[in-house]
Amino acid sequence: MGYRTPFILMPDEECIDYETNVTAGELSANDAYDLYLIAKGKKPRNFTLVCFMNLQFSFRDSGTLIWTDEEKKNYVNKWEKTIKNAWGNRILKHLKDGRKIVLVFKFKIDTGNTWLSNHWDLSVSKTLKPFETSYVEVFYGNTVLDNKDFIPKPGMTQRGAVHEFGHMLGIKDEYKESKWIKDRKSVMHHGEVIMSRHLIYFKIWLEKKLSNHRIQ
Ligand SMILES: [Zn+2]
Repeated sequence: MGYRTPFILMPDEECIDYETNVTAGELSANDAYDLYLIAKGKKPRNFTLVCFMNLQFSFRDSGTLIWTDEEKKNYVNKWEKTIKNAWGNRILKHLKDGRKIVLVFKFKIDTGNTWLSNHWDLSVSKTLKPFETSYVEVFYGNTVLDNKDFIPKPGMTQRGAVHEFGHMLGIKDEYKESKWIKDRKSVMHHGEVIMSRHLIYFKIWLEKKLSNHRIQ
């Protein structure tokens, strides 16, 4: 019998290893996510690395800018879809016989005011301006977003939601001081391209677990 997971597994799936509340990346983001290594089917089994986050969204009204229930629901759906499309389904590893191990994101999202132990609290405001700065406070586990975060920033190809999620994975900005300063297309710079280096912490974790389980 495998380990329990906070998401549903198929009957032929089993969680063979995990770590909860990982301190993530070079930003050492506190309790950023849980990782679950899932095996599927009969030998030779297929493996998936699931990055799981418990999220609490809260929507901030200001003046006449009010969030309706419909808008809140749409925002959360759009956020989840956007993040999974941008960051998910990436190959982390090819096993010797060619089997691929893919990274999958799963989220448990709450929009009520109930307190629970979350990886991240996402606070979303509404603005009439074309652009408002969004940011992540990695120590406190707070992400500050707004209604413009699915629209590319002015003069750029990058959407705020996609970039800020990189910080939620503990990845630093690359447009200030970094050895990637010229790499404008990168998601942590001015673009939206997710580079191999952005997945390095998942790869390190995966390699360690594969080695422990003698999976080659
Ligand atoms: Zn940033």
